[in-house]
Amino acid sequence: MTTVLGCIADDFTGACDLAGLLARSGVKVNLRMGVPDGPTDDVAAFEVIALKCRTAPVDIAVAECRAALEWLKKAGADRFFWKYCSTFDSTPTGNIGPVAEALMADLGAKQTIYCPAFPENDRSIFMGNLFVGEQPLAESPMKDHPLTPMRDSNLMRLLAPQTTAPVGLANRLCVAKGAEALQARLKDLRKDGFVHVVVDAVADDDLKTIAKACCDMPLMTGGSAVAMPLPALYMAQGLLNETEQKMSVPQVGTGAIVLSGSCSAMTRAQVAKYSAKAPSYRLDPLDLSNDGVQKVRKWLAALPVTAAPMIYATAEPDAVRRAQDQLGVARAGEIVEQALAVLALDAKAHGAGRFVVAGGETSGAVAKALGVTQMTIGPEIAPGVPWGFSHSDGADIALALKSGNFGKETFFTDALAVLES
Ligand code: ADP
Repeated sequence: MTTVLGCIADDFTGACDLAGLLARSGVKVNLRMGVPDGPTDDVAAFEVIALKCRTAPVDIAVAECRAALEWLKKAGADRFFWKYCSTFDSTPTGNIGPVAEALMADLGAKQTIYCPAFPENDRSIFMGNLFVGEQPLAESPMKDHPLTPMRDSNLMRLLAPQTTAPVGLANRLCVAKGAEALQARLKDLRKDGFVHVVVDAVADDDLKTIAKACCDMPLMTGGSAVAMPLPALYMAQGLLNETEQKMSVPQVGTGAIVLSGSCSAMTRAQVAKYSAKAPSYRLDPLDLSNDGVQKVRKWLAALPVTAAPMIYATAEPDAVRRAQDQLGVARAGEIVEQALAVLALDAKAHGAGRFVVAGGETSGAVAKALGVTQMTIGPEIAPGVPWGFSHSDGADIALALKSGNFGKETFFTDALAVLES
């Protein structure tokens, strides 16, 4: 098997999101945490490399992405996808533009598109402006993001300081006319020197048009959703055979644990809902700092993992601020992440095979503790959150890694139910 599409994602749960949408096609998708050390025989038609470079210094982000590109080329890919957040998380000194330009240079690509729209999750683009639901990005909660506050909604203006070449727009009126009209518009823009083109999309049909028009570009960029139509297009082109590489769902131990380190509004609702159903333990970073993890480890050891207990540090903004004021932002985060990592290992030793984790950073810490470097993507739980299958110290395990805002209130039960069916 050779890789048809090589994908590079700028964070961990974003990579799961993209891998999950590609896996909807039923074709095997591999997700790799970081650039693998060497070549491997076991490549899938879709390979996604998860990096952690969203807010890294530009030179480091560019170097990591170029290394990922080289690995993916060796896996056989000749089409590539650069995945960033559907809320375009980046600052004027951010990495979306510089990475795209570096990858384009390596690939000899003359033009690429930018389409972070994800209609199923309420992210749409109209006249180059990104909306979260009915709010312009800069009026949405993203305006207060701690690392990448989004204070402008216009993607051309957001991207311009990050690129050396001009940024143009292919708007919805053009997309609505179909793939050929979009291709003609892209060609005209290219003639006028527009190397980077933001493309409007407000619905899944727009994404189908865009993917059809752009699937032969060496590099596409966007959120995960514009990649969703690619498997069907590649099948129609004969690049992929439907029966060639079906994803398979292995048997994993029935014990489960829910670990939550995300404090986003949606995760808070999910934790509240699940705590009414399963044994739950709230971690307080200040207690952890004073007394360590022994108490919660004892609590967990006394429970059967078949009860699918939940351990969470998820808290309201005031409580988070109090912990951060006393411990510092980074230290508070680290203490929680380290505790959840230790508890994941305890749960595994105790027989848990299924790990549901909320929070991007938290997911990274838990996966690292479990020694997970690769996952094969399985069934989807919610838009952008699939189960992944991997090994930890010789045992088969399943992981559901969710970024803060994804999933419905019932996400934790939904996740466990998917593996029961
Ligand atoms: P999200 O996907 O919602 O951004 P992350 O896991 O990426 O979630 O980030 C949440 C961060 O907040 C983590 O570093 C986590 O350790 C930290 N954290 C979790 N709970 C608390 C808390 N009660 N006080 C302070 N920091 C916390």
